[in-house]
Amino acid sequence: MICPRCNQDEDKVIDSRGADGGHAVRRRRECQSCGCRFTTFERHHASGRLVVVKKDGARVPFDRSNILRGILAACGKRPVSETSKEEIVEAVEREVRREFDREVPSVEIGRRVASMLRALDEISYIRYASEYRGFTSIEDLASEVSSLQSQPKVAPGQQEFFEGD
Ligand SMILES: [Zn+2]
Repeated sequence: MICPRCNQDEDKVIDSRGADGGHAVRRRRECQSCGCRFTTFERHHASGRLVVVKKDGARVPFDRSNILRGILAACGKRPVSETSKEEIVEAVEREVRREFDREVPSVEIGRRVASMLRALDEISYIRYASEYRGFTSIEDLASEVSSLQSQPKVAPGQQEFFEGD
C-alpha cells in the first residue's frame, strides 16, 4: 500500500481485523520508510476466499488440511507432538491471511511452515524443505544443512524467516 505521507510502497501490517460482518478487513499499517501509521479498509473479492497459487500457476482454494498433510508427511515418526503440528498450521494460516488479501503463492506457505518446523525438529524440517524447495541433488541438501547450522532458529508465531530462497 502506498503511504499517504511519503508515497513509498513499503508498509508492514501491524494489526488486522474483520469488518463489515467478515466481508472486509481493516488493516493497520506502518510505513517502513517514514514510520507513519495508516489504516486501510479492504473488501474481500467475490467469496472472500484465499486462493493458493502453486508453482505451476494453478490456483486452488486455501485449505489448511493441505498444510497439515505436508507437515505430517515430513514429520513421519519424528518426535513432534500433534499439538505442535496444529500450532504450525494455526500460525501459518493466521500469517498468510493477515499478509495476503486474495492470493498467496504456495512457496510463501511452504517457507513459513519450513521455518517453524525447523525450530522444532531439524530432520522434519529437512524433509519438508526438500519437498517444497524441490531439492534435486545431495549438494542442494548439503548446502541446506550447512546453512541450517549457521542460522538462528525461529519458533512458531515469530515473524522472521530464514534467508536464502
Ligand atoms: Zn511513509
